[in-house]
Amino acid sequence: MKKFSVILFAGLCLMGCNSATTVKQQPAANGEVLAFHVDGLNVTWIQDNAGERLMPVRLFPEADSALIDSLGVRNGVPSSVSTFLLQIDGKNLLFDTGLGGTNGNLERRLDSLGVPASKIDYLFITHFHGDHIGGMLKGDTVVFENAQVYAAQPEYDAWVTNAQPGQNAQQINTMKAYEANLHLFNFGDTLPMGVVAIDAKGHTPGHTAFQRGRLLVVGDLMHGAALQMVNPEICASFDADKPAAVESRRRLLQYAADNNLVLVGMHLPPLKAEDFK
Ligand SMILES: [Zn+2]
Repeated sequence: MKKFSVILFAGLCLMGCNSATTVKQQPAANGEVLAFHVDGLNVTWIQDNAGERLMPVRLFPEADSALIDSLGVRNGVPSSVSTFLLQIDGKNLLFDTGLGGTNGNLERRLDSLGVPASKIDYLFITHFHGDHIGGMLKGDTVVFENAQVYAAQPEYDAWVTNAQPGQNAQQINTMKAYEANLHLFNFGDTLPMGVVAIDAKGHTPGHTAFQRGRLLVVGDLMHGAALQMVNPEICASFDADKPAAVESRRRLLQYAADNNLVLVGMHLPPLKAEDFK
């Protein structure tokens, strides 16, 4: 079993937290948002879903029964729908937008933080699944009216350029609504405010991780962290290209461990203040 010294937020620290981290706890507004620092970078975790979210173990068909029982996740793997806000030099950067509609709480929680959607300057999208772009539109109306939006070219091509007739209406409508402020990047590009786009393909064709300093936002690299941190070869049934997803998961977990990065993701368990002690 590989040993990772990486700190895994939210809520899990399976492989041993690195006590040398400079992350400092900040007061949490409530159990649905939590602000923290990574080397002076202001980060806020914002949970989009309401209440507890457990991923059913049937979504991980390669996970054997003994492993599931040994980890105590028979009733579901702790999860969430999460987004992350970074504040750099007076600019607000948001990573993904959650579910939107009646199940999404991002907009309301941004309001509670004093950073309404209209104040988001940059929006970085890990991939085009509905639980990541759902918050971009309210009906046909753009929610992040002043944001410059960044998405991977291969993701755009897969969902929009190469869409089959009648398919991908949500993705096409959303990207069209943001067309004037949409910027397509390639893996390896450095984006505004020093955010670097990292190849994390497999879950989707253009699935992207974003790095800013020691913060690594990995999107849907893991849907069941309790299982996949110890067994990166286990895929969720959502992973479109499983060998590529495994390669990305192994590579990015190792990269985070090697570089002492703070790894956060959109379906990791809810962040708790205790994680910072
Ligand atoms: Zn997702």
